[in-house]
Amino acid sequence: MTTGGQPSRLLAQLQQWIQLRRSVVGERLYVEPAASRPFPSPMAGSQGTSEQELPLPSPQRPRFHMPAIGGEDLFAMGPPWLQSQSLSELYALIHTCTACSLGLQRTNFVFGSGNPRAEIVVIGEAPGAEEDARGEPFVGAAGQLLTRMLQAIQLRREDVYICNVLKCRPPNNRRPTPQEISTCRPYLWKQLELIQPAFLLVLGATAATALLEKEYKIAELRGRPIPFHGMVMVVTYHPAALLRNPQWKSLAWQDLQLLRRLYDAYVDRASCHPCTHGSSGGLRDCL
Ligand code: SF4
Repeated sequence: MTTGGQPSRLLAQLQQWIQLRRSVVGERLYVEPAASRPFPSPMAGSQGTSEQELPLPSPQRPRFHMPAIGGEDLFAMGPPWLQSQSLSELYALIHTCTACSLGLQRTNFVFGSGNPRAEIVVIGEAPGAEEDARGEPFVGAAGQLLTRMLQAIQLRREDVYICNVLKCRPPNNRRPTPQEISTCRPYLWKQLELIQPAFLLVLGATAATALLEKEYKIAELRGRPIPFHGMVMVVTYHPAALLRNPQWKSLAWQDLQLLRRLYDAYVDRASCHPCTHGSSGGLRDCL
């Protein structure tokens, strides 16, 4: 509350400054540098957010920058892979990683597969036995269900990029430890920085918790869009959980339909976006 002319003048000046910055740098004014910004709580400011109210992913690129997270040793060391310019370069630099004990137990490093310019990245928890044996994500029974889930919303595996938070299989498919997650997660951040997707489809509470860096139950996250660093995250059940609990499939179907509606709205908006590149190419060329 203001009691005199001085605070009102200061407020007016601040608003003018914000308007000026907004006109110069657009939406990015409101995207803090990731290095100084904690990951957002999905509960903060988005309770009850409907997809009508929620801004769609930012059309501006780069949309996602790797956060500098204190305490994650790989960042502190400044390893060469941080400078990777492509997914293949990143793979070449990290596929022999033994930064945690899982690296000594794996059969294969499971990096990720799919479209390196995908607008949707699908993120699971960690490789299972089949994935470990083949070096590819989501190729076992859960992977086959994921393929059908994507097909149900008119997406092919090659349309999206599929990966896990962890690149190596935890023994007996146990849940990854917080230490393993924090050690391996920078690789996922780098993958996202290179791909620059608009949407994340996050499979299961463990993967969502790893991204949001806070423990959540799946019921707290699924069924609504969650803003995440200029992207929009949709959380649903992991296909392996759906195989064990088929009664949850109707909820997963709702989540997938939500993702499809958001994606369609994003594409609609993008195609109306005035093109400044003289390109009639896809979204990537225009935005
Ligand atoms: S799980 Fe991640 S951090 Fe651990 S060894 Fe594998 S790639 Fe490295």
